[in-house]
Amino acid sequence: MNDEDRYSRQMLIPGWDQDRLSGSTIVLVGAGAIGSYVATILVSSGIGKLIIIDFDTIEVSNLNRQLLFRDKDVGKSKSEIAAERLRDLNPKCEIDFIHKKMEEVSVSIYEEADVIIACLDTFIGRRWINSMAVRVNAPLVMGGMFAFLGNVQVIKPHETACFECQPLVPDEELAQACTPFGEERKKEREEEIEKEPPLPAVATLSSIIAGFISQEALKLLLGIGSILENYMFYDGLHNATTIIELVRSEECPTCGDLYKLEQIEFVVNSEESVKDLILRLILTYGLAKPDIMIQGTIISPDKVIKEVIKQSKSIAYIIDNNLAKPIKVVLQIKD
Ligand SMILES: [Zn+2]
Repeated sequence: MNDEDRYSRQMLIPGWDQDRLSGSTIVLVGAGAIGSYVATILVSSGIGKLIIIDFDTIEVSNLNRQLLFRDKDVGKSKSEIAAERLRDLNPKCEIDFIHKKMEEVSVSIYEEADVIIACLDTFIGRRWINSMAVRVNAPLVMGGMFAFLGNVQVIKPHETACFECQPLVPDEELAQACTPFGEERKKEREEEIEKEPPLPAVATLSSIIAGFISQEALKLLLGIGSILENYMFYDGLHNATTIIELVRSEECPTCGDLYKLEQIEFVVNSEESVKDLILRLILTYGLAKPDIMIQGTIISPDKVIKEVIKQSKSIAYIIDNNLAKPIKVVLQIKD
């Protein structure tokens, strides 16, 4: 069997360039319901390389919609089993898996991507992958679902609106994200997330949303058709689609001008607490929940600035979910 036979039907489509597809790399974050379908479609279509990133293990409750997994896989790594099945599906495609949290994966992996696809169910996760896509300047296709409702978003960094330019995040979530977290609150929040009830999910919606995502990815790789501008909401119960064109913001903390800032001078009052400084950073730069790191240590928000800065000037790093890399700031004490 040669490639011509394998791909002969799709090669009948005008503008289809199989060689271009075979030379492309996709990084897929999340090998759950939508991710399994996306991977199956793209690997069957003959992309060159797929890198699957997922930290989860397979559970019985996944089997109603995560088509790459079987009963005997329960308890095993999603990314590893997915890679195994996909290699079987199309041995022509190079498939790598990384059983790690996406935040722990080296930037060089994301840099390999011609397109990044994220199938994640949390806003925090989407925020993170958005900032990484902007950092490595790779198009990002994302999607999610809830029962019979789904959404797809396509982001072309510095060209179209990113996830943060005009966030479609409920106010409640946003307010929560904007509250500076102390260590205790962080722990509480982690526990809350763990306790959150599972979301309703059905295979029809996973496959429909995955179809949309894969189609946008293929068009991006092949350079054909028009790309979704840039957010689509789908209601499967009533067969309705709504497309919203989000507007790019020059002031966006992720893809706007702030992103280009390498170094900021920040004047602080010696009596000011670290918490006050964090609040100012949130208000000034639209950050989500920044932490301040000095000499490799995250500074507790309860400290007073003069306790942590001995000299009149000190170099600090601001770390935040909205930023793909820390911002270096010079804190200058004003007495
Ligand atoms: Zn943006």
